[in-house]
Amino acid sequence: MRVGIGRDCHRLVEGRRLVIGGVAMDSPRGADAHSDGDVLLHALIDALLGAVGLGDIGDHFPDTDPQYEGADSRDLLRRTVALVRRNGMSVHNVDATVMLERPKLGPLKQQMREQIAADLGISPGRVNVKAKTAEGLGAVGGGEAIEAEAVVLLEE
Ligand code: MG
Repeated sequence: MRVGIGRDCHRLVEGRRLVIGGVAMDSPRGADAHSDGDVLLHALIDALLGAVGLGDIGDHFPDTDPQYEGADSRDLLRRTVALVRRNGMSVHNVDATVMLERPKLGPLKQQMREQIAADLGISPGRVNVKAKTAEGLGAVGGGEAIEAEAVVLLEE
């Protein structure tokens, strides 16, 4: 077994789409990012890379590279999973937390689990997505930022 942890944060700005866990949210503000800014999938990609000891998302998909402009993070996730498999590992389970003030993620968490599970090639019951607000505190609480963290367990 190998464990990995990942974390990500994006500024929220007007005129950008908000995509979380591969699901497009109904929100007037979205993540300011070179790719689609999917904070949850970026945290998960870092957790996967961490577990196999292969650095971080910036090493593999640099935001200075024009080929990743507007990139679909589900595509980056699937490429990362392929890398994990090439290293002789498979995903056992994932736990993740998204922190944002609004919109509420509740009704869409199941869809996120199913999409992430499909990309990882595991059952949705092995992918947990939690949502928390920051109780009005700090950048997340003020609606200026979104954060996520993920933990993944791999098995040989
Ligand atoms: Mg990111």
